[in-house]
Amino acid sequence: MNEDEERAEERARILAKTAAFAPPPAIAADGRRDLVGLSREELAAEMAAIGEQPFRAGQLWHWIYHRGATGFAAMSSIARPLRARLAERYVIGRPEVVVAQESADQTRKFLFRFRDGQEAETVYIPDREEDRGAVCLSSQIGCTLSCRFCHTGTQPLVRNLGAAEIVGQFMAARDAYGEWPSPTGEAPRLLSTIVLMGMGEPLYNYENVAQAMRIVMDGEGIALSRRRITLSTSGLVPMMDRAGAELGVNLAVSLHAVRDDLRDELVPLNRRHPIAELLAACRRYPGASNARRITFEYVMLKGVNDAEADARELVRLIAGIPAKVNLIPFNPWPGSGFETSGAGAVRRFAAIVQAAGFSAPVRAPRGRDILAACGQLRTESRRARRPAA
Ligand code: SAH
Ligand code: SF4
Repeated sequence: MNEDEERAEERARILAKTAAFAPPPAIAADGRRDLVGLSREELAAEMAAIGEQPFRAGQLWHWIYHRGATGFAAMSSIARPLRARLAERYVIGRPEVVVAQESADQTRKFLFRFRDGQEAETVYIPDREEDRGAVCLSSQIGCTLSCRFCHTGTQPLVRNLGAAEIVGQFMAARDAYGEWPSPTGEAPRLLSTIVLMGMGEPLYNYENVAQAMRIVMDGEGIALSRRRITLSTSGLVPMMDRAGAELGVNLAVSLHAVRDDLRDELVPLNRRHPIAELLAACRRYPGASNARRITFEYVMLKGVNDAEADARELVRLIAGIPAKVNLIPFNPWPGSGFETSGAGAVRRFAAIVQAAGFSAPVRAPRGRDILAACGQLRTESRRARRPAA
């Protein structure tokens, strides 16, 4: 088998495993189906099934994803009797907001509850200088990977989030900020970027994440450009190839160590896809260029991975990749056992990376006071008991 075939086989294995963690169907308690999360084709099929013309799907798409409608009553371009018929059969769902907390630095964390009672967190991070910001979406409840420094990693994977639940986090955040285009054409500005950096490994839930991203990128709806979406992965190589080819969103890679022995410990997925293999996948990632660089995330852990020798090895490893390095001061959580690197170590590390020609911003911790910073998200959701196989 050549490498491509091996990767295709592993992709099939990964996707088969995903089935065991599938989200429940997007149906409300009263039996009405949720229209959020359907692709355009699925929405058209749904309309055909109730004897409506395909153009109805286009109208609904506009109301749901461009105008942010949460019910049918406001859909003035659709005749009243049809609105009533739609409302009998369908809902336009949103996750329930259980808690919304705002940090001293205006970062806002939402705890959302989904129909089966499971919960996940979403964070809105306003840009410091400009009047906009990023929504950090969760892709799973818990995570199968157990990166040592990550709070989410201490929570076993409960289940994947469905496409409706992933787009729903963004839509509910827009609701909270009143950020839908008004009929006079005023466009949203605050919620202008998506980062898939919340709870979970997005590439272990590829199909649902991809469907959700296709919905937000659709030009007649939310219409975010793929340049405004960044997917962060701990390095699931076979799925990186597929995400690059099919979605073309920006890629962030959680590197965190420059030697396999250390990365095996910090990011256990490294035992399956070691550093050389991961960097080869970055080198062939479609669309990476100087204008669209790959971000390498590097959590600075005191005395673990923050030596000057590590920085020199890092620039040797990523030489030739259009890249930038995001240095993330470790965000502590109870019982983690790690400490944040000192300011001097971070400065020396950044200087070496910058001297090699890479931009190396130090990510300012945001929302630490409400446990909303990178790697601090964790809910008390428990794994639902599964029927024995
Ligand atoms: N599972 C994906 C995306 C979610 S984590 C991934 O691992 O890339 C988003 C980023 O936060 C990753 O780079 C992750 O390594 C980092 N992170 C995790 N725990 C952290 C912590 N305690 N402090 C700082 N960053 C952390
Ligand atoms: Fe999962 Fe990412 Fe946390 Fe690792 S860092 S445990 S992959 S969420």
